[in-house]
Amino acid sequence: MASDTDLPELRPVTALRGVGARQQARLARLGIHTVGDLLFHLPLRYQDRTRITPLGQLRPGREAQVAGTILGAQERQGRRRTLAVRIADGSGVLTLRFFHYGPAQVRQFAAGVPVSCYGEVRLGPEGLEMAHPEYRLGTLAPEADVLTPVYPTTEGLGQGALRRWIDTALETLAEGALAEWLPPAWCEELGLPPLREALLSVHRPAPGDLPDLLQGTHPGQRRLALEELLAHHLGLRRARHGHRRRRAPALDTSEAALAPFLAVLPFEPTAAQRRVLAELARDLAADRPMMRLVQGDVGSGKTVVAAAAAWWAARSGWQSALMAPTELLAEQHAASLGAWLEPLGARVVLLNGRQKAGERRAALEDLAEGRAAVAVGTHALFQEAVCFRRLGLVVVDEQHRFGVHQRLALREKGADGERVPHQLVMTATPIPRTLAMAAYGDLDVSVIDELPPGRTPVETVVVPDRRRDEVIERVRAACAAGRQAYWVCPLVEDSEALSCQAAEATAAHLAEALPELTVGLVHGRMKGEEKARVMARFKAGEIHLLVATTVIEVGVDVPNASLMIIDNAERLGLAQLHQLRGRVGRGSVRSVCVLLYHGPLSDTARARLAALRETNDGFVIAERDLALRGPGEVLGTRQTGLVGLRVADLGRDADLMPAVQSLADRLLQHHPERAEPLMRRWLREDVRYAEV
Ligand code: ADP
Ligand code: MG
Repeated sequence: MASDTDLPELRPVTALRGVGARQQARLARLGIHTVGDLLFHLPLRYQDRTRITPLGQLRPGREAQVAGTILGAQERQGRRRTLAVRIADGSGVLTLRFFHYGPAQVRQFAAGVPVSCYGEVRLGPEGLEMAHPEYRLGTLAPEADVLTPVYPTTEGLGQGALRRWIDTALETLAEGALAEWLPPAWCEELGLPPLREALLSVHRPAPGDLPDLLQGTHPGQRRLALEELLAHHLGLRRARHGHRRRRAPALDTSEAALAPFLAVLPFEPTAAQRRVLAELARDLAADRPMMRLVQGDVGSGKTVVAAAAAWWAARSGWQSALMAPTELLAEQHAASLGAWLEPLGARVVLLNGRQKAGERRAALEDLAEGRAAVAVGTHALFQEAVCFRRLGLVVVDEQHRFGVHQRLALREKGADGERVPHQLVMTATPIPRTLAMAAYGDLDVSVIDELPPGRTPVETVVVPDRRRDEVIERVRAACAAGRQAYWVCPLVEDSEALSCQAAEATAAHLAEALPELTVGLVHGRMKGEEKARVMARFKAGEIHLLVATTVIEVGVDVPNASLMIIDNAERLGLAQLHQLRGRVGRGSVRSVCVLLYHGPLSDTARARLAALRETNDGFVIAERDLALRGPGEVLGTRQTGLVGLRVADLGRDADLMPAVQSLADRLLQHHPERAEPLMRRWLREDVRYAEV
């Protein structure tokens, strides 16, 4: 196998003619270090300079290349001094407008001189104009025969220089600068070109390719996306295989072992929960580490499944750690698990940042000495010096908030030589299958596709905020009927301080409008204890209306709450709205979710609210979300290993995933030595999947 330095694509950019140390530093700011990086630095968009648009055909809002003869140049004194140069070509006239210019430039624009320029057309005070177009005096011929790429760039690095260097890099392709790791026949089967052709067509496309390129359906783009997804998939598989080679405690997961746990539960598991439990039982009984993702819509009852796994571990003398995304949720989990496991003799301890030093020390000691069977906490559980005596199982709840790499790192925490804990990942946001394949290629997937009995689907209504008074009356009626309600205030301008203020103001207003009700408030700036106290009072029914920021997003469980108002719902994403809505409809009464919006709505906001009104199905919502937002946000940008995607767009290219899987099989079978250089090509250092 070729070593790094043998691969021409891994040579530093300075290997290219015209790129010196200074340029190297600038390119580095774009994450471009090697010749390969430069080749995979793809255009953001394209300009069509292959033809000249007659001035009479210009449309505002479009970019165009034009050519004409200067009629005259005039300085205008408005609010700002500007230079207006009128040009004509027989079909129409156009004004070129400059805000920054020197006397030499004014002289240059003499009447009768031919000029060609490129810029965006807009409607100005004197008809159509271009502000600060790129221009060239004298030439009238089109400047290019291919589309002109516009690259992502950085200060001090012009498009011209980037284009030149990329041209140079593209020339090196002819000399074999990029190895082709995929047999051309395999790509041909998929209707996709070889790598070299793909790169040329994306960097220097023919004008007719523009529509496909804009839609992201050009075969060149697809070929690159395919290869990139393949590299990520191979990385995840490698992580998985490495993991499979390790050992884990084999637990007793027999029916007899489960019986006492089921006897303590106040309900019967659903068929779906039973099926998933059987899948877990098989995994956990083996001496190979489990790596399983349990997907289940909000309220489908994932916590019980995790608790059963922790019970199996405890019975066999192993400890479990459950990691939740928020303090509030950690507290809830500790309470639920405690209620189910402590009667069976398994101690559950909570570790959070806010507890008293003594309490915390005691919990840590109990864990270190093996007196506690289960630790529940936020990710701090793993960042700090928490010592387990015999950690056998790690459960990560609400996976989408943690990243792939965090997850992979996490399992190392409990590693003891060759032995690692079993890992169970639970996610409430259903992820479209193709996306799950790409993001969790290293996990087995179980799905809880059934809600516990007695739930009634939540009815969702969309109401403009000028009808706020009617909504307040709804709250009054629901609480008069013995029910409880949530009033959620979303984040204001990304600021927690402002959001908390807004929630406080809303709570005050509602308390005034509803004097007969007890109104409570929880927000992100309150102390953990204080929050827990309010939540406990709400759960006990002492608080009728709970005003909250989105801290209640996950996990809160109050079956008597049957009404949820989401204020300024237009500001929230689809997945988040669905999660919030999942807080109601947990009892047997008909629940209502009111999406209160402040108009006018953008098209996407309208589409989001409509999707929620139309369906309660998390999978349908996830698909819509993917279509509306793109995968980065669906998975939680920056938090997944997929942020490293340079070319592929999972929303757009998700349909390639089955092909990616079978290509990976074939590659590993016929050319296993190519997997490594492929991963090196595409996976940046920071997104390399852990090699175990
Ligand atoms: P999620 O999947 O959103 O994490 P939870 O585990 O919080 O859901 O469960 C939601 C609620 O449903 C909890 O009150 C839980 O006790 C209850 N629950 C779970 N499984 C069942 C079941 N089989 N029958 C009745 N209630 C259940
Ligand atoms: Mg949950």
